[in-house]
Amino acid sequence: MAASSKRIMVTGGAGFLGSHLCERLLKQGHEVLCVDNYFTGRKDNIVHLLPNPFFEVLRHDITMPLYVEVDAIYNLACPASPVHYQFDPVQTTKTSVHGAINMLGLAKRLKAKILQASTSEVYGDPAIHPQPEEYWGNVNPIGPRACYDEGKRCAETLFFDYHRQYRLPIRVVRIFNTYGPRMHPDDGRVVSNFIVQALKGDPITIYGEGTQTRSFCYVDDLLEAMNRFMDVDGDVPGPLNIGNPGEFTMLELAETVIRLTGSSSRILHKPLPADDPKQRQPDIAKAKSLLDWEPQIPLEEGLKRTIRYFRQLLKAAD
Ligand code: NAD
Ligand code: UDP
Ligand code: UDP
Repeated sequence: MAASSKRIMVTGGAGFLGSHLCERLLKQGHEVLCVDNYFTGRKDNIVHLLPNPFFEVLRHDITMPLYVEVDAIYNLACPASPVHYQFDPVQTTKTSVHGAINMLGLAKRLKAKILQASTSEVYGDPAIHPQPEEYWGNVNPIGPRACYDEGKRCAETLFFDYHRQYRLPIRVVRIFNTYGPRMHPDDGRVVSNFIVQALKGDPITIYGEGTQTRSFCYVDDLLEAMNRFMDVDGDVPGPLNIGNPGEFTMLELAETVIRLTGSSSRILHKPLPADDPKQRQPDIAKAKSLLDWEPQIPLEEGLKRTIRYFRQLLKAAD
C-alpha cells in the first residue's frame, strides 16, 4: 500500500452512492471498510470489489455501537428514496440520529475526520430559489417526509455540536438529487423509475402535473466533489451544497427519457405525494470556489450511461 494510504470506513457502502465511493477509494490506494445492513443496499453492488484484499465488508446496523479502528469515515448509511425511507419511518430517524451519534462517538474516540451525507431535503419545500447553504429551509416537522428531513437536520446539528464541543474534524455535504448506474430498479426515485418504465414499455408515472422541478447530478460528478471536500485541508466543516444546477420539470425528464430510450411508453399521471417539494436547484458557488469543481456530465449524457446500465440489468434478468 502507498504511504499516504488510509483505512477508510464507508457506512451505506453497499448502496448506490456508497458502492461507487468504495470503488473510488480503493482505486486511490486506500483500505476500505464497507459497513451496511443491506436495507436498500445490495451485495451485487460490491461483489466485484470482494477479491480485493484491501476491501472488507461488515454487516452492521449503525443504530448500534461499532468499535473498529479507522482513519476516516464517510457516513452514507440511510435509505434515500421516499418509498424506502417511509417504509419504516422510525428506523429512518434512528438511522440518522442514533447512527450519527454512534459514528460521531467512534470518530471522537479515534480523532478521525468524518463526513456526513446530508441532503437538499433539509431545505424542505424551499421558499428561496436556488438554495444557498445559508437558507434554513421550510420543512414540515410532522409530515411523512419528516423522518428523513428532520433526521438529517438533527444529524447536521449533532455533527456541528461534536465539532464545536470536541473539536472533531467534520465535513457536511448537502447532496442534491443524484442518479446513475447501480440505483436499484425498484428504488422508487424518479430517474430509475422513468428509465425502467420506459425500457419495459410500461406507463411513465408522473406524480401530480409534472411541473415540479429537480436538478439532477451524475454520480461521478458528485463523488469527485465529495472526495475533494473530504481531502481539503483546514477547518472547513461546511455545510456544502453539491449538485448540478441544471433544473428540469418532471415532464421534461419524462420526455427526455422517452426520447433517449426510443420507448413507446405513454405518460400516466398519479397523485402528488404529501409535502412534495415544488422546486429544487442548488446554489453551488461555495463548492466551485472551495473545490475548484463544477459538474462535467450534462443530464442527457448521464441519462444515456444510466439507460445503458438498466438495459443490461433488465436483459440479464430476462
Ligand atoms: P441507497 O439507499 O442506495 O444507499 C443507502 C445505504 O445505506 C444502503 O446500502 C442501505 O442498506 C444502507 N443503510 C440504511 N440504513 C442503514 C443502517 N441503519 N445501518 C447500516 N446501513 C444502512 O441510497 P444512496 O442514494 O446511495 O444514498 C446514500 C446517502 O446519500 C444517504 O445517506 C442519502 O440520504 C444521501 N443522499 C443521497 C442523495 C441521492 O440523490 N442519491 C441525495 C441526498 C442525500
Ligand atoms: N461509540 C461507538 N464506537 C466507539 C465510540 C463510541 O459506537 O468507538 C458510540 C457509543 O454508543 C456512544 C456513542 O458512540 O454512546 C457516543 O459516544 P460519545 O463518546 O460521544 O458519548 P458517550 O455516550 O460514550 O458518553
Ligand atoms: N416522481 C414522479 N414519478 C415517479 C417518482 C417520482 O413524478 O415515479 C416525482 C416526485 O413526486 C418528485 C420528483 O419526481 O416530485 C423527484 O422524486 P424523487 O423521489 O426522485 O426525489 P425527491 O422527491 O426526494 O427529490
